[in-house]
Amino acid sequence: MHLAVYQATDAAAIVHTHSPFVVALSAVLDVLPAVHYAMAGLGGLVRVAPYARFGTQELASGAVSALAGRTAVILRNHGALTYGATLGQAYDRARTLEWLARVYWYACQAGTPATLDGDALAEVSAATRALRYGERDH
Ligand SMILES: [Zn+2]
Repeated sequence: MHLAVYQATDAAAIVHTHSPFVVALSAVLDVLPAVHYAMAGLGGLVRVAPYARFGTQELASGAVSALAGRTAVILRNHGALTYGATLGQAYDRARTLEWLARVYWYACQAGTPATLDGDALAEVSAATRALRYGERDH
């Protein structure tokens, strides 16, 4: 799976986790709804790749397909994979994805959450680029 992602993307580092909120939601969702705009930093709505056993070509190709346009993917009944230009960036994305899954879980306990669609996340990405939001040297 890792080799397939390195081949299919510009990843310089990959982080793979079995973090609990992501694993729990991987069993019930096809896409993780965005309850917060931070998901824009992962390239858009994060998809859940179909289940396949670890170490298989099926898991690798399913992960690569579900990663299209994203830097994160959830693996059904398994975990998550994120990538980045550095190990730190890939790790931050893994932490963001788990945080987004946890916040979505909390929101569902309180009711039916309002969510952001792909267009809203794309608008956030554009504004982030325009403002260089989050960069320390500006
Ligand atoms: Zn694993």
